[in-house]
Amino acid sequence: MEFGEELEKMVNGTCLLNEPMSRHTSYGIGGPAGAYITPRDRDDLRRILHFADEQNIPVFFIGSGSNLLVADEGINGIVITLIKSFNKLEIKGCHIYAETGVMLGHMVKHCIKQKLTGLETMIGVPGTLGGALMMNAGAFGSEISNCLQNVDVMTLTGKIKQYSVKDIDFNYRHSSFKKDEIIMSANFVLKKATKQEIMNKRAKASAGRKETQPLRFRSAGSLFKNPKKDVAAGYLIDKAGLKGTHRGDAEISEKHANFFVNHGKANAEDIVFLIRLARKTVEKKFGINLELEVKTLGFKPGIFES
Ligand SMILES: Cc1cc2nc3c(=O)[nH]c(=O)nc-3n(C[C@H](O)[C@H](O)[C@H](O)COP(=O)(O)OP(=O)(O)OC[C@H]3O[C@@H](n4cnc5c(N)ncnc54)[C@H](O)[C@@H]3O)c2cc1C
Repeated sequence: MEFGEELEKMVNGTCLLNEPMSRHTSYGIGGPAGAYITPRDRDDLRRILHFADEQNIPVFFIGSGSNLLVADEGINGIVITLIKSFNKLEIKGCHIYAETGVMLGHMVKHCIKQKLTGLETMIGVPGTLGGALMMNAGAFGSEISNCLQNVDVMTLTGKIKQYSVKDIDFNYRHSSFKKDEIIMSANFVLKKATKQEIMNKRAKASAGRKETQPLRFRSAGSLFKNPKKDVAAGYLIDKAGLKGTHRGDAEISEKHANFFVNHGKANAEDIVFLIRLARKTVEKKFGINLELEVKTLGFKPGIFES
C-alpha cells in the first residue's frame, strides 16, 4: 500500500503490510488488508489514527474476526485490532476493568473464579471484549451490556471520550457505538453468587451450544439475526429446505441452518452466494427479509441483496 513503509517505521506495535485477512477471521476467509496493525498502547494508537487521518487512509476496527466476512478482494485501508496488546484485566470485589483486546472467554473465566455472576452463560462466545461490546454479544439469557458501567473510546482524531451505559443504545446484537470510534476499555459491575449456581448456568450453556452448533467447522456463528424473538432465522432457512446446501467448500450447516460453515477452501464469494440464496428463498416462502448479523468488510454495496 502507499505509505506502507512510513507506517511500518512509525508503529510501535505490530504492522503487517498486505496481510491476508483469512489469517484473522474465524471463517479463514478474506483477501489482504493494506495494513493489519496492533498498536502497542494508547499513544501508538493515537499516532496511527493521526497518520491515517492526515493521509486520508480508510481505517477499520476489528477484534478477533469471529463475526466478520471479508471480501476475497481484501480491504483497501488499515485494519486496527487491539487483540494481544490492550490486555489489562483487573477485578476488585464486584468491579471489573478490562481493556477490549481481552478475550471475552478469558474475562468470563476470571469472573467465575471470583464467584461473580452475570457473564457465565457467555463462556463459549468467541472474540474480544471490544467485539462483544460492539455486537452486544449474548448467549442463553445474558448480554454483555447487562452489567456494563462505562467505556473509553478514541475518535479518529485521537480524542478520548467516555460513554456511560446510558449514552449507548443496546439491543439484540446491536449497539449504537460509532463506527469511527474504537472502544479501548470498559468497566463492569457484577453480582456475587455461589460457585454452584454459577457452574450450573455455565454447564447448561456449554451443553446447549455443543448440542446445537457445528463447532467442528469454521464459521462466524449465526449469520443472520433472528427476525423476531420467537422466530429463529435458522428455523426459516431449514423450513425453506436449504440445510446442507453447498457451494464449493461452503455449506449451510446440517446441524444449525443459521451457521454457514467453511469446510476448508471456501471463499467469500461462496458464502455470498449462499447468503443471497437464503435471503431470496426465505423472502419468497415466508415474506421475511433476513438481516445479516455478521459484519462485512470490503464488499461493493448491494452485493448481499437477494
Ligand atoms: C462458533 C461461533 C459461535 C458464536 N456464538 C455467539 C453467541 O452465542 N452469541 C453472540 O453474540 N455471538 C456469537 N458469535 C459471534 C461472535 O463471536 C461475536 O459477535 C463476538 O462478540 C465478536 O467479537 P470479535 O472480537 O471477534 O469481533 P469482530 O468479529 O472482529 O468484529 C465484530 C464487530 O465489532 C467491531 N469491533 C470489534 N472490536 C472493536 C473495538 N475495539 N472498537 C470498535 N469496534 C470494534 C468490528 O468493527 C465489527 O463491526 C459466535 C461466533 C462463532 C464463530
